[in-house]
Amino acid sequence: MDYHAFLAQRPRAYLGRGLPRRRAIALSFDDGPGQATPALLAALRELEVAATFFCVGRLLRAVPWLSARMLADGHELANHSMSHADASGLGADALLHEEVAPAAAELRRAGADTLSARLFRPAFGEIRADQVDLLARHGYTVAGWSIDPCDWLEPDAPGHVDCVSGAVLAQAHPGAIVLLHDGDDEHGRARPRIVEIVRELVPALRAQGYGFVRVGDLLREREAQRAQA
Ligand SMILES: [Zn+2]
Repeated sequence: MDYHAFLAQRPRAYLGRGLPRRRAIALSFDDGPGQATPALLAALRELEVAATFFCVGRLLRAVPWLSARMLADGHELANHSMSHADASGLGADALLHEEVAPAAAELRRAGADTLSARLFRPAFGEIRADQVDLLARHGYTVAGWSIDPCDWLEPDAPGHVDCVSGAVLAQAHPGAIVLLHDGDDEHGRARPRIVEIVRELVPALRAQGYGFVRVGDLLREREAQRAQA
């Protein structure tokens, strides 16, 4: 994973994968809630998988019934900023006070726990060292991923579902965090294939012996291990 080398030097402020303790994988869904989210929730419920949704605060605010259902189904609601702003155009203070803290407040209002509300995945993966350091001082953890199967890329291409699912299966590892998307695409369309991807991927990962956790569970495990060390 080539996700900003400076993040690797901030092991307390950054979570890119969980401890490789057991065959557990976290599925994460960005940019929602979107038009595909209700169908995705139905599929996850049927598959008995709890996942992490990195929500956009202003979108979450519009659908309180959906956030209640997500939490009731055991999913985690985490922070993907208030407006999906590209942090590279923002000062560290602006990122914290205009995007990340308001989204955390929105998540808390929706019922998310504090740890999840302070688990922040930057939009477009864009973040700078000064921003990470300021967020860390305010109790936030920057969340990355260890597997990016590019589910957003050419979803209408033939074989897309197999391609995304195959990419995850080929890279699967204990403590993996998988980057997926349930929010509408850049043209405002529902993600067309995310439900099919999940329906193919989950049984295949289970066949490899994997169970499913939320990103916050991986962070709690890491913090518990540090507390013991
Ligand atoms: Zn995003």
